[in-house]
Amino acid sequence: MRFFGRTRIGLVLLSLFLLTGSPATHAWGWEAHKLVCAVAEKKLTPQARKLVNRWLENAADLEGGVLSFPDACLWPDKVKYGTRKSTYEHHFINVPDDAIRVDLNRDCAAADCIAIGIQRSLSYLSGEASGDRAATRQAAALRFLGHYIGDLHQPLHVGNASDWGGNKIRVNWLGKKTNLHALWDYEMPEKMNLRYPDSVLFLANIDVTSNGSVVAWMNESLDLARSNAYVSIDGNEIEGGDTINAEYFEKNKPIIIKRIAQAATRLARLLNEIADGDRPVALHLRPAD
Ligand SMILES: [Zn+2]
Repeated sequence: MRFFGRTRIGLVLLSLFLLTGSPATHAWGWEAHKLVCAVAEKKLTPQARKLVNRWLENAADLEGGVLSFPDACLWPDKVKYGTRKSTYEHHFINVPDDAIRVDLNRDCAAADCIAIGIQRSLSYLSGEASGDRAATRQAAALRFLGHYIGDLHQPLHVGNASDWGGNKIRVNWLGKKTNLHALWDYEMPEKMNLRYPDSVLFLANIDVTSNGSVVAWMNESLDLARSNAYVSIDGNEIEGGDTINAEYFEKNKPIIIKRIAQAATRLARLLNEIADGDRPVALHLRPAD
């Protein structure tokens, strides 16, 4: 599925995807992305809120025009096969199967990765924008940042290169066929009834830390991928054709809730820091000590 945008059949599938609005297969589902940005919006300082509203309003020249923040955060998935193909690799990072830590020099060198997408967005948002072009670029950067911070917290967005972050591991779930990545993107969140806007207050009240760097947050996802996402309830590595049982779902529900809450809190922190005049780019990409 990962490369379907590059074939003729892929283009047909892509148009179907755009028409039907089904969730993308390698991003948190649309509800989770909306929730991340809606919850983050609640945690903004008054100055940051003002800035975010200005960036949202500056989006008149982008596809979709001016959108609410939750809707704006879905946009990167809608354009990654089309007008913004060069951002495709910014939605994830793949690591070697035996890696226990992300190494940007190793994992983000041959192809771009999510760290590049975040760094570029932060850099645009932290800089001065003079002129319409720069203002539009900031409007896009806000959409990308909101989306990427969400993606970064889905454990399988920091997954094995060999199985494309679980996309290639076909699993059975509630009587249907899906894959491990999709299970985490939207199958389990949907089954948990995590929805926008109903779940916003619930998630906003969860106390999670906003500490750490982008790399530290990536490593958290990798740890969770290794300890939970790739592991069945009996402790074995999940393989293609396996059936995901109710115990696996119950075990991982709290992780999904926590990761969405963390993504929102950390996104708000980054935006608040930009509004305060801090320049978080280097700070947040520095590997954790
Ligand atoms: Zn994505």
